[in-house]
Amino acid sequence: MSFDTNVTLPDPATDRGAFRAHARKWLAENLPSTLQADSLDFKYPSLDEARVWEAAMHKAGLWGMTWPKEYGGHGLTLREHLAVNKEVGAVLMPESVGSIGKELAGPVIMAVGTEAQKNHFLPNILTMSHMWCQGFSEPEAGSDLARLRTRAVQQEDGSWRINGQKIWTSGAAKADYCLLLTRTGTVADKHRGMLMFAVPMNTPGIRVVNIKSIDGKDSFAEVFFDDVVVADDARLGAPDEGWSAAIRVLSIERATNRMYRPWRFEAELKFLVKALKSDPDLAVKLEDADVQKRIGQIVTEIDGLKGLIERAVDQMMGGAPIGARGSLSKLSWSETHQSFMGFAYEMISTVTPLNSPLAQRAKKHFTTAYLFARAETIYAGTSEVQCDIIAQRILNLPTELKA
Ligand SMILES: Cc1cc2nc3c(=O)[nH]c(=O)nc-3n(C[C@H](O)[C@H](O)[C@H](O)COP(=O)(O)OP(=O)(O)OC[C@H]3O[C@@H](n4cnc5c(N)ncnc54)[C@H](O)[C@@H]3O)c2cc1C
Repeated sequence: MSFDTNVTLPDPATDRGAFRAHARKWLAENLPSTLQADSLDFKYPSLDEARVWEAAMHKAGLWGMTWPKEYGGHGLTLREHLAVNKEVGAVLMPESVGSIGKELAGPVIMAVGTEAQKNHFLPNILTMSHMWCQGFSEPEAGSDLARLRTRAVQQEDGSWRINGQKIWTSGAAKADYCLLLTRTGTVADKHRGMLMFAVPMNTPGIRVVNIKSIDGKDSFAEVFFDDVVVADDARLGAPDEGWSAAIRVLSIERATNRMYRPWRFEAELKFLVKALKSDPDLAVKLEDADVQKRIGQIVTEIDGLKGLIERAVDQMMGGAPIGARGSLSKLSWSETHQSFMGFAYEMISTVTPLNSPLAQRAKKHFTTAYLFARAETIYAGTSEVQCDIIAQRILNLPTELKA
């Protein structure tokens, strides 16, 4: 695959709409039909193909918009990031294979990393030379991360010895680095004494055991750390900064990560309707009043989600922290999409093999998406936990019912 990356980016200071128009035009001219889920040519890219594609997107100004130019970014603002995301969402390309690096590790390194770490890691993330995974969850510590046990002990020569186990680590088998959350004290210390590392995944003592997910993919893994020794320069931030860095990661994950979602959901809805119309046996379902009502509800939910994202961008552009409001987006997109995928699967799954090829393509897309959507109300914090955060930190409701 080769793409046109010899582009001059428009200056958003002189023409705001130009940046979105640039993204739309570049995607129209460069996105192959094999990477569009609503095309009959669609084929899942190999990891190498996905890396080449995402590196080209970055060069063309469609990734790393907000990162400083000295670290390989485009030195723009969240507004351009959002403008590009609207166009990325509108074309049903595969989800990024590098989003943990680009959307979680990168921002944390930018916030707490040393100059040497920024110079080393940030450009390599954007060019897709380094893939990352996120080692937070453990068998006894998921929603309540403060219970994590993976221990890092500093040795006399300054290096750190790490022992413990992580679970549900997405993309661990493909990752070059792990954004690893550890503790330097005991579990009783709770949020204190936590430390984050950038651990090279080829360090001796690391063992990755894949877990098959419901959609049949090896999308995540258990990762075991047995006497893994890393140099002190693998540490991200000060020994007591681990918890605040982890909270920063989680709030990004809930608020600004994959901002394209509502525009993608909208593209999926258009694809579903087009596929149903292409098959006479399925098209009649669209005449049903309940089906029409449900589609209307989905459109309304997607529009509400767009509003939440636009507002979050306005607030962050005004200097406000993301804070607990990220939970509103997380709860909203995951519940909306999970229920939409349930509806889509129900509508398309009865297609018969001899009917419309587009409906067959849609069946494949929506079956995988429906299965993966089961996880959406779990990862990045479960819906119950988001409700707790909204109740306590936005609505200031009492935390316990008193007798
Ligand atoms: C597809 C997928 C990818 C993932 N990728 C990663 C990754 O890359 N890196 C990583 O570190 N982790 C990852 N995770 C793990 C994810 O973050 C955890 O699964 C999640 O935080 C929930 O933790 P748990 O599974 O231990 O469930 P638990 O925390 O044990 O929760 C079990 C149930 O109890 C409920 N519950 C827990 N606490 C409360 C509470 N205070 N109030 C009300 N209800 C509560 C939960 O809502 C849930 O229903 C991934 C998970 C999935 C599904």
